[in-house]
Amino acid sequence: MPLTHRIESQVAGTPVNAYLVEGEHRLVAIDGTLTVSGGRAVRDRIDAIGKPLAALLVTHAHPDHYGGAVEVVAGSEAPIVATAGVDAAIRRDDEGKEAILRPMFGDEWPTERAFPTRLVEPGAELAFGDIELVVRDLGPGESPHDSVWLLGEDRSTVFCGDQGYNHMHCYLADGHWERWLANLDALAAELPDGVTLMPGHGDQAGRELLDWQRGYIHRFVAAVRAGDWSDPQRAKQSVVAAMSAYLPADDLRFLMELSIEPVAAKLGLLEPSDS
Ligand SMILES: [Zn+2]
Repeated sequence: MPLTHRIESQVAGTPVNAYLVEGEHRLVAIDGTLTVSGGRAVRDRIDAIGKPLAALLVTHAHPDHYGGAVEVVAGSEAPIVATAGVDAAIRRDDEGKEAILRPMFGDEWPTERAFPTRLVEPGAELAFGDIELVVRDLGPGESPHDSVWLLGEDRSTVFCGDQGYNHMHCYLADGHWERWLANLDALAAELPDGVTLMPGHGDQAGRELLDWQRGYIHRFVAAVRAGDWSDPQRAKQSVVAAMSAYLPADDLRFLMELSIEPVAAKLGLLEPSDS
């Protein structure tokens, strides 16, 4: 059974996970983190283990999961693998992400990002020596296009991207939360009992993480609806207060704060802003 390594990047106060699956003769990486340093930390771990990288798999279309990929694969021939939907969303949105992330992260946001180089069909089964993975394509959800990667014949280890953040604040600004909730229901029905979820943010967890995530989404959308949007500033503060009560920790709080106005606009409570 292949080993799984977690590499958590903490660059710029933004905890995000990448993983390495270690087979007998090679490694497979899952996600690349956001930053230059985060991607290099994955590369350093690859070098320390001392087995070649066979591929980097991307779970979903957000920059905190593909940005550092260029550093992970540097100096190797490893393909970057994703479903066509994930690939298309990354390529479509990358320029917009550049405009947002360059001022926030400076040189830590890679100057040139690497995009997927090998596309796979939904449900594709890939084998890299003794490492076997299956991709479950989910479509829009947390990001404009999500997928999860299931490891091994029994599929009991799942690299679930941001389907479930493990007790960190969440990003809902893409506005597909109803699809996200449906994806959570589908995963809960499909995943085996005793599944181990390897999330994009936070520690590994069991399937109860899917329930926590469902609760977070419902609470967030309810808090946005409950706000007094005649005074947007006050409405925003009330959402932050409600979510801080649901989850007192500050991890990734800025992602939640960035999500308030887009969700209010999507609900028709606020004119979409240009800012
Ligand atoms: Zn993320």
